[in-house]
Amino acid sequence: MPIDRRLPATGVVQPDKDHFLNEENPFEAMMSRFDKAAELLDLEQGLYKVLRQAEKQIIVSIPITRDNGEVEVYEGYRVLYNTSRGPAKGGIRFDMQVTLEEVKALAAWMTWKCAVVNIPFGGAKGGVKCDPHSMSISELERLTRRYTSGIIRFLGPNSDVPAPDVNTNERVMAWVMDTYSMHVGYTDTAVVTGKPVEMGGSLGRKEATGRGCMIVTREALKHLGLPIKGTRVAVQGFGNVGSVAADLLAKEGCRVVAIGDRNVALYNEKGIDIPDAIAYAAKNKGLEGHKKGDQISSADLLTLDVDVLVPAALENVITTKNAHDIRAKMICEGANGPTTAAADSILDEKGIFVIPDILANAGGVTVSYFEWVQDRGGYFWTEDVVNERLEKIMCSSFSEVLALSKRHSVNMRTAAYMLSISRVANVHRLRGVYA
Ligand code: GLU
Repeated sequence: MPIDRRLPATGVVQPDKDHFLNEENPFEAMMSRFDKAAELLDLEQGLYKVLRQAEKQIIVSIPITRDNGEVEVYEGYRVLYNTSRGPAKGGIRFDMQVTLEEVKALAAWMTWKCAVVNIPFGGAKGGVKCDPHSMSISELERLTRRYTSGIIRFLGPNSDVPAPDVNTNERVMAWVMDTYSMHVGYTDTAVVTGKPVEMGGSLGRKEATGRGCMIVTREALKHLGLPIKGTRVAVQGFGNVGSVAADLLAKEGCRVVAIGDRNVALYNEKGIDIPDAIAYAAKNKGLEGHKKGDQISSADLLTLDVDVLVPAALENVITTKNAHDIRAKMICEGANGPTTAAADSILDEKGIFVIPDILANAGGVTVSYFEWVQDRGGYFWTEDVVNERLEKIMCSSFSEVLALSKRHSVNMRTAAYMLSISRVANVHRLRGVYA
């Protein structure tokens, strides 16, 4: 039965799935993929209506005193998209690009991501619209603590568990955990993941997203019959995801010929020494000035003649404007939403194998799940055990999505959405509608 594409609450008619009102609206991008999968799954109308709405959307105003004594007010968001399968899970980002619409899309993606790898979480995301690069450490601490207290009644190991995301890290998670613990009156480590190891963080968590990218890229190369040795890779984004993915792919024998961060991109046909670049970026707060390759534009990095492209920064870098020019055989989406929905069909026509974000970057939340389990059990695993279990989950999830894509003759993205939506929908059917 064709789906009635009207939003339940507002009755607003959604655009046809092949027509985009705004290509770069991340929520529309998420929805158009959702619609396609829902139709293929023949999802019942009631569930369709439930799953295209966020459960909770929180907007908080965050006043802080800047170091110069002036008060500045920021806006922050936390969206709990769906909690049918377990506590809401997802990162908090600090970025000027943050909007409620973006956070909502990212929260929905977390819902599908947790379901693709079959971990018992729902999906959430948080964000504060700010420029963290222009703020001091103590300003960032005040911002984090005030944001946390604004959303505190929704947080908790059983209700909503944040983690790092764009421009946030272990230190920020330590402040979130401390603020929450001070409010409830006891130390509760399981309220956030991605914490420092000394205070209940998991070994292997920091590298987990990049490691997951490496694992699925390796599996995809195997599937395509391509050798990993000498595979030429370009990585866009050199934060926690991009740098670790580049490092681990190089360790597997790939030749990483291009890397780039938000200021600069470098190309070196012979391959870039990744540990050296990581050390340089840590010391110099970025790759700018690193002389181990030719400087190219960030746009050119995306269209290089390579085997694998890893977009590992922000949304909307592969669009209808550049998708035709992409020459990689495979794309591993380390970032959330790097490809617009309108660009999907162009990549399909070109025969590019895309490992979609909700599978490719699920390694991070998978080890977040391990961290939460370890915190709740009070018993900590070795890094080898963490990596072994991550490997198992990433490989089996990749195989499940691949099998579904073959069975339904759809691309990996649609198959990943079908798998995750069917899992979430099934729990809704079992739980029923509470009234
Ligand atoms: N921010 C990461 C993501 O987008 C990790 C989320 C988490 O571990 O909860 O997947």
